[in-house]
Amino acid sequence: MSKKLVIIGGGAAGPSAAAEARRGDPSLKVSILEKGAFVSYSA
Ligand SMILES: Cc1cc2nc3c(=O)[nH]c(=O)nc-3n(C[C@H](O)[C@H](O)[C@H](O)COP(=O)(O)OP(=O)(O)OC[C@H]3O[C@@H](n4cnc5c(N)ncnc54)[C@H](O)[C@@H]3O)c2cc1C
Repeated sequence: MSKKLVIIGGGAAGPSAAAEARRGDPSLKVSILEKGAFVSYSA
């Protein structure tokens, strides 16, 4: 069973962390929870 990673916050750091985690483990299931209307708006 593949591992799951949940990231809170979709600003700059969240998507960067998601990409880095997937590079390390391509089978990782990554979810990003963002309370605002936009994702990665500050990157
Ligand atoms: C006025 C201002 C101008 C700036 N201008 C620049 C610039 O021109 N260039 C530059 O490089 N940097 C700029 N910065 C800095 C840049 O915005 C930050 O360095 C960067 O946004 C930090 O990213 P972060 O992902 O760490 O945090 P954030 O961008 O704060 O992202 C955190 C995210 O988490 C979400 N969140 C919080 N709590 C929850 C929750 N409970 N559930 C779900 N989601 C949640 C928030 O909605 C947010 O989207 C500026 C900052 C400010 C304040």
